[in-house]
Amino acid sequence: MEQTLVILKPGTVQRGLMGEIISRFEKKGLLIKGMKMMQLTDELLNEHYSHLKERSFFKDLKNSMMSCPVVVMCLEGVDVVNVVRNIVGATNGRAAQPGTIRGDYSVSAMENLVHASDSPETAEIELTRFFKKEEILECNHKLLLNIYAAYEMVV
Ligand code: UDP
Ligand code: MG
Repeated sequence: MEQTLVILKPGTVQRGLMGEIISRFEKKGLLIKGMKMMQLTDELLNEHYSHLKERSFFKDLKNSMMSCPVVVMCLEGVDVVNVVRNIVGATNGRAAQPGTIRGDYSVSAMENLVHASDSPETAEIELTRFFKKEEILECNHKLLLNIYAAYEMVV
């Protein structure tokens, strides 16, 4: 099944929203296959945000992302990249729809609480960047048949 990377950014940790945000993913029916706290570094962020390196806010973005430890998560589900991007909402919290994480808890383009991979290809690269292979765990999720129809699960 598809997997994606989510990062609970420093704003989420500082504002005590980790539980609330993790809970939204859990309640949706997504499986948490890996989760840990870590301190991001300049080197890692240069790689992770390389598509933004020419932007005026690049340094501020990196400083924000290094301002305290983050939570990195590997979430799994059918079409999980799209499902998670929809739960997270538009990049700018002021434009994000109410009901999305950013729409409900952010009023900023930068301090938008969560990172989520933007395609299955990016997700694979990003999961490798933040997790060692052995940190993504196997678990026999007994509830799967109550979450998906059997025909939807191409495991
Ligand atoms: N960002 C920002 N200003 C912008 C666009 C992006 O500060 O105008 C920050 C914001 O924190 C965003 C991150 O850079 O989450 C990565 O940008 P991207 O375009 O990849 O947006 P995302 O995929 O996070 O929605
Ligand atoms: Mg992005």
